[in-house]
Amino acid sequence: MRTITHWIDGKPDTGSSGRTSPVWNPATGEQQAEVALANAQDVDRAVRSSRAAFQQWSQSSLSARTKILFAFRELVNANAEQIAELITDEHGKVLSDALGEVQRGLEVVEFACGIPTLLQGGYSDQVSTGVDVFSFREPLGVCAGITPFNFPAMVPMWMHPVAIACGNTFVLKPSERDPSASQLVAELWAQAGLPDGVFTVLNGDKEAVDGLLDHPDVAAVSFVGSTPIARYIHERASANGKRVQALGGAKNHAVVLPDASLDFAAEHLVAAAFGSAGERCMAISAAVAVGSAADDLVAAVSEKARAVKVGSGRDADSEMGPVITEAARDRILGLIGSGETQGAELAVDGRGLTVPGHENGFFVGPTVIDRVRTEMDVYREEIFGPVLSVVRTDTVEEAIALINANPYGNGTAIFTSSGDAARRFQRGVQVGMIGINVPIPVPMAYYSFGGWKDSLFGDKHIHGPEGVSFYTRAKVVTSRWPRAEMPSGASYHFPTAT
Ligand code: NAD
Repeated sequence: MRTITHWIDGKPDTGSSGRTSPVWNPATGEQQAEVALANAQDVDRAVRSSRAAFQQWSQSSLSARTKILFAFRELVNANAEQIAELITDEHGKVLSDALGEVQRGLEVVEFACGIPTLLQGGYSDQVSTGVDVFSFREPLGVCAGITPFNFPAMVPMWMHPVAIACGNTFVLKPSERDPSASQLVAELWAQAGLPDGVFTVLNGDKEAVDGLLDHPDVAAVSFVGSTPIARYIHERASANGKRVQALGGAKNHAVVLPDASLDFAAEHLVAAAFGSAGERCMAISAAVAVGSAADDLVAAVSEKARAVKVGSGRDADSEMGPVITEAARDRILGLIGSGETQGAELAVDGRGLTVPGHENGFFVGPTVIDRVRTEMDVYREEIFGPVLSVVRTDTVEEAIALINANPYGNGTAIFTSSGDAARRFQRGVQVGMIGINVPIPVPMAYYSFGGWKDSLFGDKHIHGPEGVSFYTRAKVVTSRWPRAEMPSGASYHFPTAT
């Protein structure tokens, strides 16, 4: 059995715990590798190596860092297919989707290549007679990233290129379910010329995470994953005095008004609900059909859902792959059943799907549940599978109120041909990322990504300008170079400008 190791001090490292976790191929249902799980000693060794590397890396020039970032950009681009294949084999998503994920991660690397401009400070001349003030930002130290299974390359790339460009060192704790992409990324950083210890991969579960949250030499923690764990990470790391951004789960609504092109909306809803088997934090999991849009929308969505080609992510014809584990599949099937027993209507039932040649794979077919009410489990739970719930409302105001009553606030979308309705929507919803006739409004790398309410704990969104701000802290210098003939200006009252 292949063992996926840690990456510490610029080389593979098997760790000392002796504990491992299975890594499955979700399309075949077979175990294909095991991943080493770090213990507290491994965490300490990794953080010490990272701390030692910080001494030099934080002093490296902007041009030296930029050269390495550009080289890394070229290497990720050249190896995009290989990274995508590792993702497909461990996560299950179709290869074209995995390639798209690498591309979106690459865009953050490209953003980070502009670090000399992003770190430009401010300068005020002569704020008082003979006194100047200037400000600049410095790196924090060892930054940790704890990431989810659903984007094993992109989500870590929301973090490490920006953290490293800012002069920090970075310890990545990827999901134990699909860890291989991170190993390859570590090799690419090394090939790009990044000094040993600046980028570390520490595989593991709760033990590794807790070790990072409690380690005195970890300065900041970026987390992306489910809401209960995000809340826990935020509380524990904050209590330990660390800077924290913890992005959580989601329930993303797409509102469809009667004046929208229903065919256009249905096509986009199906892609946004079932792409990557619904395992995206920006997936649309609730369609809110307003007024007379509902019946035609459900009919159009159902027809398209039935036509989705489900199969192995390695099969070029597949549009949707399996879900991540057998347990995830069983949980999703159970939730679909609860929708039925709680009184919703199954317009398309994805249970019982088998894929010829992949009978043991973790597949769930696209599912559309109509007449869902907000008290039902399918609405309340983040299903994280290929299930689209349709909730019906009479007005757009009712739709906005429904979204605002939901504890999550990651992404949302509206389909309409009315600029006025779209504007009322964008101003009225308490959600961080909004699409207007765009179902999955993931911001470009030069904006920042983040939700509101239970979808994000902490102040800063991730990557983009807020990422640079998160991974640095400001210094402001007030400076005077006195000449002999100048009055000293010293006094016992509080200093004021003269
Ligand atoms: P998860 O919360 O189970 O795991 C995320 C990370 O936390 C993993 O590295 C895991 O090893 C670690 N972890 C799990 N349990 C832990 C515990 N008890 N203590 C400490 N660490 C623990 O999430 P997942 O299932 O890997 O990913 C899916 C979730 O991530 C969904 O809820 C999805 O919405 C969310 N997500 C959010 C965003 C966003 O930007 N808001 C992006 C992607 C995914």
